[in-house]
Amino acid sequence: MKKQSAIIIACVLLMITSICVQANGQELHHKKGFVIEVNGEITDSVSVICNDIHYVPMRMIFEKMGAAVFFRSSDSQILALSRDGDIIRHTVGECSITVNDEVKEYECSSILENNTTYIPLDMLSVVLCPDEISFDNQKLKIQKYMFHSDYHKVIQDVMAMYRNSNFYPERFQKYINLHEKMPSLSMEEIVFRVNLGLDEPFYDNVTTIGQPYELFVLVNKYHRLPSNFEQYNLVPMSWEYTVNDGKQYLLAGVAYEKFTEMADAARQENLSMRVVSAYRTETYQNNLYNTKVRTTGKVNADRYSARPGFSEHQTGLAVDINSTRGSFEYTAEFRWLQEHAHEYGFILRYPKGKEWLTGYAYEPWHYRYIGVEAAQIIYEEGITYEEYYAKYVSINEFK
Ligand SMILES: [Zn+2]
Repeated sequence: MKKQSAIIIACVLLMITSICVQANGQELHHKKGFVIEVNGEITDSVSVICNDIHYVPMRMIFEKMGAAVFFRSSDSQILALSRDGDIIRHTVGECSITVNDEVKEYECSSILENNTTYIPLDMLSVVLCPDEISFDNQKLKIQKYMFHSDYHKVIQDVMAMYRNSNFYPERFQKYINLHEKMPSLSMEEIVFRVNLGLDEPFYDNVTTIGQPYELFVLVNKYHRLPSNFEQYNLVPMSWEYTVNDGKQYLLAGVAYEKFTEMADAARQENLSMRVVSAYRTETYQNNLYNTKVRTTGKVNADRYSARPGFSEHQTGLAVDINSTRGSFEYTAEFRWLQEHAHEYGFILRYPKGKEWLTGYAYEPWHYRYIGVEAAQIIYEEGITYEEYYAKYVSINEFK
């Protein structure tokens, strides 16, 4: 019996949905609904009626209620940030709406009409209290209460940033959390830190890199290489460019070519640049890290050595030059690299004073190949690769 009634209900639901969807195209043009008033202001929009269901323009109403609304064209997703700190997601043409990861299903889907997304009224009510919405004399009235708690002040500070190109709406809650935790930081700094992942401890919230073969790959304590990753484009280095200890050093082709160019140019000035570490496998990195932990302790090991899967050396795009001792900083070779490395597409990856940001102590010997154009910008702006990546590489899909 239970099964049968479930099937009947499912069929009825299906019928309602399909009637609604079929009717959308024709009836919407004819059946205009009510004038819409939001917070006492009459808008120039009206609701539309389809099978006795009122549809209202989502973006207009959300914005009038003080929300920030974004759109991602790749999957037609609308994302709205409410003044109460909620993140609301809806995909155009679907029957559900998500509020802070909680999905709510409805019988009818939203519809696209003249480039405007109309959602069924009950879908809108998800962000309203029952008494915030009413019908009165051919008018649909929405009255959104505004709260003025300390928490709402924090939300307002964050909302003030939403037109900034570095503002990622999906990180709304993280911006709010960090602003609450560290109120003395400027909002620019809050957005900057969250975008870099710095609101969480290193290794806590790790993403597996989706495109590990890209030249711009960012490998750090928040981004690990896939476990099956193997750089395929490796070239054996000629002994002239290595410390020549009998080991075969490998580098990614493009990095090798530019490294030899750089070392040759330095050689013209009687400077010697030899690689003491280049490509490493994950297994090798694992041994290296574990040895470091055994000999110096975990805290110290983490300052100088990457955990397996998290090392730039595994990409074949990083080199350690001449020595892995701090004294390398006082050599003529280091001074030359400071002036010229970027001309060959290399950057000093772990600069002095940036440990809080890169996760690594100052390593004057560790250089990363990134291409001349990017290296030039990093050099001119005096920024780390993390900052460059956040500013120029990562894509803000919500506009
Ligand atoms: Zn290194």
